[in-house]
Amino acid sequence: MSLITNELQDVKSHCEDQIEGSKVITCVPSMVRVEIKRTKFKQLTACIQFPDNYPEQPLIIEFKSKTLAARLLDGLCKVCEKECKKYLGKPQILRLLKFVSSFIDENPLCVCSEEIASIKKELISENDDLKLKQKTSSLYLQITQEAYRIVVKITVPHHYPEEQIRVELKESNFPDLFTKFFCGQSLEISRQCIQPPLKRKPKDPPFEPKPALWPIIRFLIKEVKRFPHEKCPVCKERCLPSDPKEVTEDPNNPKFVERVYCGHIYHYDCLLSYLKTPPFQGGKKCPNCGNRIYHDRWKLTPNMAEARWAHQEARHRELEEYDPQIAMWMFPVLLVKWHCISTCSSCFSCDVTLVLLVSLTYSLFVTVNKYLDNIKNC
Ligand SMILES: [Zn+2]
Ligand SMILES: [Zn+2]
Repeated sequence: MSLITNELQDVKSHCEDQIEGSKVITCVPSMVRVEIKRTKFKQLTACIQFPDNYPEQPLIIEFKSKTLAARLLDGLCKVCEKECKKYLGKPQILRLLKFVSSFIDENPLCVCSEEIASIKKELISENDDLKLKQKTSSLYLQITQEAYRIVVKITVPHHYPEEQIRVELKESNFPDLFTKFFCGQSLEISRQCIQPPLKRKPKDPPFEPKPALWPIIRFLIKEVKRFPHEKCPVCKERCLPSDPKEVTEDPNNPKFVERVYCGHIYHYDCLLSYLKTPPFQGGKKCPNCGNRIYHDRWKLTPNMAEARWAHQEARHRELEEYDPQIAMWMFPVLLVKWHCISTCSSCFSCDVTLVLLVSLTYSLFVTVNKYLDNIKNC
């Protein structure tokens, strides 16, 4: 038997036992086709041909895959050719297939190689960095904007894109509220990529899991770059200090930065005074985007806000009206006393007039106050 016939026999009898997830599809002198599969998305078919003076020359190899990127397969082809050159003069097929199999295991990020290439090309700028860690099937993403920085570890699971990506915070000098938002929202994006929406429209096509890396990294870069220079819609000054060391984590500090439902950020004090000032009709709207302001700390309905504001204003008015009231009370007293000093020094009729005047002014004051209260309540 020739060397090729022997080798083909060997492939038929041992390939599927020795190489995990392999299936021999064709095994004839003109072509050997073997499928290697790890998951639905990590699979390829090796198409192998013998050159004229085999085994003195390396095998002719081509890879096909519906899920792995063409660029990755071309690169793999080149390294496989080099690998075969190590075994010139010997049977090469099983050695080559073992090499391909371990390549898939050692490069779990092969499943998203195309996605990573476009992320590097289109999303990552000079100040940012994306490092691949094949050993842990993860990516370290560092995003920098001014003096602010965040580093996250994104783990790509074995069954990606059908399994949910994990996002862990490794480093950040943003306030806590922001880092929680970055990580929480990233996880939400990855969840939405693998789980169908709860309310589906009847005409929607059947749900298919979508790759989540690109949308997560695009979201992180966009948000991390936006916040450091974003201005408070109320006072028009930047919300986050230019030096991250000056960030306050105290939620009652006037400069504490709050993020409201629409995504815009405010100084705590600015937001508080804005929410407490009319108009309240239709709820308070964000001056930047016009969306209604919702926040866990201020669950105010427009009516409650209106009532609170009216109450506060009434108290202010009371304080402001305090001085005129005193003047009103003092006026008759001073008038009578002046009369006494200038004319009679002190007499009984003056004292009676004084008491009468004081009581009259008091009842007049009470009546006017009641009348004003009635108007307000109407
Ligand atoms: Zn402000
Ligand atoms: Zn807004």
